[in-house]
Amino acid sequence: MDLGIKGKRALVCASSKGLGLGCAQALAEAGVDLVMNARGSEALEAAAAQIRSDYGVNVTAVAADITTAEGRAQVLEAAGQVDILVTNAGGPPPGMWHDWERADFIKALDANMLTPIALMKALLPGMMERGWGRVVNITSQSVKSPIAMLGLSNAARAGLTGYVAGTARQVAAKGVTINNLLPGIHDTDRATSLDGSAAKAQGTTPEDVRRAREASIPARRYGTAEEFGAACAFLCSKHGGFIVGQNLLLDGGATNATL
Ligand code: NAP
Repeated sequence: MDLGIKGKRALVCASSKGLGLGCAQALAEAGVDLVMNARGSEALEAAAAQIRSDYGVNVTAVAADITTAEGRAQVLEAAGQVDILVTNAGGPPPGMWHDWERADFIKALDANMLTPIALMKALLPGMMERGWGRVVNITSQSVKSPIAMLGLSNAARAGLTGYVAGTARQVAAKGVTINNLLPGIHDTDRATSLDGSAAKAQGTTPEDVRRAREASIPARRYGTAEEFGAACAFLCSKHGGFIVGQNLLLDGGATNATL
């Protein structure tokens, strides 16, 4: 299928690894020029070089912490005008409801709610002026079905989801869509690290935790970054123009709900 976005320009945040990288690769495959970002420059430069060589698109790599005002300013300056924005950042740490203080919530809100909102505020006006734009926010399955040990994530991402629900409907008339992708468990460093924390807490091994988590998913496996990226590219495509303010679960059926 021709996604119809060859020659567009995308900012994909937190994209040297994992789900962000999957989105960057799928957009590059569709001929989109990229601005990629992560804090660590080594993995970022390597990912950018691989994408240039695999797909022949232009890639600008900006090593910066997207959750800070300075980092965002650096990324936005390098990005200039973009047609597509994919927001992403690392997820908050797991814990128990009584572990978290105000400062922990502020940090999670900054990373997983206020950062995507700031990026949309900066880039939506240009998209609306040009009459075309796509925003995809990487959130989490936890928006639909809470993951108790990820209370910070549950809280911050629910806030972003509420903001998107209203804002998506305010910008749609200008040809700009905003949607959220909700990953269930995907085979990335983040999932490996959560398997490790759960193993420690349960006194078992990460392999046992993974087997048990896979068994709890109707698809009986973790998702892949490639599958996730393909869904992102479709939402960003010319075919996605009538998909507005939606929350698309990619979880192998793990969320047991009719709607
Ligand atoms: P990952 O494999 O750990 O990759 C995270 C990527 O984000 C890396 O490129 C990392 O590079 C970059 N990054 C992290 N913090 C950043 C920051 N402050 N500024 C800029 N770049 C940053 O994680 P993932 O599995 O792809 O997860 C992506 C998001 O989806 C997370 O918010 C996660 O909580 C959420 N999620 C994941 C799953 C899953 O199963 N994988 C499920 C539900 C939700 P640097 O470290 O070099 O910055």
